Amino acid sequence: MSDLPPENEFDVAIIGAGATGLAVACAMAMEDLKIICFDKMFGFDGQEKGDTRTIALLQNSVYLLQNLGVWDDCEPFAEPLNIMKVVDDTGRFPPVPDASFDASELGSDPFGYNIANDRLVSILAEHARHHPNITLFDTDHVASIENLAKKAVVTPFEGQPVTASLVVGADGANSLARRAAKITTTDWKYNQTAMACWFSHSQPHNNISTEFHRTSGPLVLVPMQGNKSGLVWVETPEKASHLMALDDISFKKKLSAAIHGELGELIDLSKRSSFPLSGQVANSFAKGRTVLVGHAAHVLPPIGAQGLNLGLRDAAMIADIACKAHMRGDDPGSIEVISKYDELRRSDIMSRTFTVDFLNRSLIHGWFPPLQATRAIGVQLLKLIPPLRKAVMREGIAPQINLPPLMHSR
Ligand SMILES: Cc1cc2nc3c(=O)[nH]c(=O)nc-3n(C[C@H](O)[C@H](O)[C@H](O)COP(=O)(O)OP(=O)(O)OC[C@H]3O[C@@H](n4cnc5c(N)ncnc54)[C@H](O)[C@@H]3O)c2cc1C
Repeated sequence: MSDLPPENEFDVAIIGAGATGLAVACAMAMEDLKIICFDKMFGFDGQEKGDTRTIALLQNSVYLLQNLGVWDDCEPFAEPLNIMKVVDDTGRFPPVPDASFDASELGSDPFGYNIANDRLVSILAEHARHHPNITLFDTDHVASIENLAKKAVVTPFEGQPVTASLVVGADGANSLARRAAKITTTDWKYNQTAMACWFSHSQPHNNISTEFHRTSGPLVLVPMQGNKSGLVWVETPEKASHLMALDDISFKKKLSAAIHGELGELIDLSKRSSFPLSGQVANSFAKGRTVLVGHAAHVLPPIGAQGLNLGLRDAAMIADIACKAHMRGDDPGSIEVISKYDELRRSDIMSRTFTVDFLNRSLIHGWFPPLQATRAIGVQLLKLIPPLRKAVMREGIAPQINLPPLMHSR
């Protein structure tokens, strides 16, 4: 797997084999593009690697995985999300009423499914590994990328350079592909840390995902198979480091208090991981012969399950545009492809970045009375006006315009 094929020429070079990079590879391979994907994480055999994140995949991301032919392998490990509950736990005035959103109001599908991130990545990697159009190149890292007029040249740390018409930067928040394309970013910090783990409990979750809105940030419970739930708990860095240092029994006590005894007795607890929260958005999503997807393009706080779902929409969009160019006999890394991707992804990425940032800040800075009142009135309106509620639910799942074809149900 580590040896480059002799010809060293590819249509597409993907830097990074997280969920977004692998989704791009699997989508483009269906249309006969010749793809190479670089990362160090292959060979995962289905055992947990210590990534304790679970990912709430919203409906259109599930359609994407169905269209890629990988959903049948994911489904046995995924739990449907039927109801999303938002609980105001800020204690501020005026109180925001609790709100419950039921997927059955929109149709027969659940809002989405929750699956362990490492499971999802390993299933996509297995699919890519067996696809004849994809070469998985096992490298510590890609060392350099040059965006030239006719091709891009990608050089892995330990191997020979390869050329590609299009480079897909799926290499995370500290993206080399982004820097090599001379794309700048806007960055900001939150005084918050997210803790992620899963735990089992004595009472059923009834496929309800609950988001507690607290003054330090959200605390989210997401159903997993059996009587298990994924947890994302956002606190100040000081409080999070104190909680991370607790033994399991003390941590479970604190958690049980924070979720007001919901889910009954807390039983098994997985390893805990912590993620300092920050925000970042690339000032352009495409330049030279490079496009950015996923965390390389945008990093958001974990509110409303937006991050990877947004990244999968990036993946499906570049696959659609580049494959159509290829089928016409055009260059999949041409300026037309690059510009169209940048244009079509802009409103979705910028609006989600703004909304998630606003929601997060409205929790932290909600002492400002008009902000708290606006939240209270907004939730009340959603409760009282079903068409408004349905419109907000639909938009929360995915944007209603410019949704790539691969994200529609077939
Ligand atoms: C606590 C928490 C909970 C979350 N929950 C959700 C959720 O419920 N729903 C949701 O949609 N999103 C969620 N997210 C967001 C989601 O995890 C991210 O959006 C997603 O993991 C980003 O995937 P990615 O493939 O873009 O980047 P990454 O997962 O960061 O992958 C980047 C890959 O690039 C590789 N790489 C880096 N540099 C190089 C290089 N030079 N050469 C080669 N390879 C390189 C890395 O090894 C890595 O494999 C959550 C995030 C957090 C922190």
